[in-house]
Amino acid sequence: MDLLDNAVESIQVGVEDYATGTRPRLLSAVRNIHAGILLLYKEALRRDSPDDSDEVLLKARNLPSRDSTGKLVIVGVGKKTVDVQQIKERFEGLGINTDWSRFDRINEVRNDVEHLYPQLDQKALAGLISDSFLIIRDFIAEELKDDPRELLGEASWKAMLDVSTVYEKEKQECAKLLENADWKSEVVKKGVMSMVCSACGSDLLKPVEDSYHEINLECSSCGNYEGPDSYAEKAVASALADEAYFALKDGGETPIANCPECGQEAYVMEERRCAACGNEAEHTCARCGNEIPAEEMSSSPLCGYCEHMSSKDD
Ligand SMILES: [Zn+2]
Ligand SMILES: [Zn+2]
Ligand SMILES: [Zn+2]
Repeated sequence: MDLLDNAVESIQVGVEDYATGTRPRLLSAVRNIHAGILLLYKEALRRDSPDDSDEVLLKARNLPSRDSTGKLVIVGVGKKTVDVQQIKERFEGLGINTDWSRFDRINEVRNDVEHLYPQLDQKALAGLISDSFLIIRDFIAEELKDDPRELLGEASWKAMLDVSTVYEKEKQECAKLLENADWKSEVVKKGVMSMVCSACGSDLLKPVEDSYHEINLECSSCGNYEGPDSYAEKAVASALADEAYFALKDGGETPIANCPECGQEAYVMEERRCAACGNEAEHTCARCGNEIPAEEMSSSPLCGYCEHMSSKDD
C-alpha cells in the first residue's frame, strides 16, 4: 500500500471533480480532498513507525509483544488505520504539525455538505479548496519534506492556488465589511464573523443595511439573503458558546435568554437587548421588584414566580 501515491491521486481527482462543477462531482470533490489530506497525515505516521512494528503508529489498534531477543515492543494489529482523533493525539505526541482549525472546517463541510447545502456550487466550496490547499502545501513541504508543486503536479497545484488566491482576497473583503458595519450588538458582530450561509455553506457573507437600519447578510456565493430574525440565534449562540458552556457547567449566569417579544433564543443578557427583533425588555419585575433571571426573561415584565401568581389571580 503506497499511501503517498493514494493521497496525491485522491487530491488530484478531487480537484478534477471540483473543476467539473456539477453537484454530484462537487460532493465527490469534498470526499476526495478530505480523504487525500487524511492519507497525507497517515503517510507521516507510517514514516515515523519503527521497522518491524507492523506500522504501529498507523494502526488503530496496538498491542504489546516481544521481539526475537525477548525485548518488549508495541506493534500494530489488524487492518484498521487511525481515525482523526487518534491522528491528532499521535501528532501531538510526535510533534508533527498541521493546521487543525482549517482541517476541522474541512471536516465539518465533509459531514454537513450532503444534507445541509441544497444550493451547492463551485464558489460555495472555494473556502474548502483554499483551506485544503494551505494544509496540503505546508504539510507536504514541512512534515513530508517534499515539493508540493512537484508532488501534486502542475495542473492540480495551479488550479488550487488560483481558487485559493481569489477566495482569500474575497474573504478579507467580507471580513472588513463585517468589521465596519454599524452593528447594534457587539455579540452579534462577533458571531457573524464565523458564520456560513445556511443555503450553500459558503463563508463569504456580506452585511447589507436595509431602510430600517437592520443589517442583513448576503451570501456572495449563492445570493441568499438573511435578516436578523433568521441569523441572530445562530450568531448569538456562536459568539457566546464559551460563556453558555461555563454557565451550564459551573452554574453561572446564563448569557442568552428567550426573548419575551419574539420568542427567539436571541436575547443577550449583558446587552439587555434581543439580537433578533431589537426588543429591550424590562429586567426588573413589575410586581415584586426583583431582578428577572435569564431563565425567566420570557415572562418579562414579570419574574417567573409573579407571572405564575398573577395568572392564578385571573
Ligand atoms: Zn450561499
Ligand atoms: Zn426578540
Ligand atoms: Zn416578581
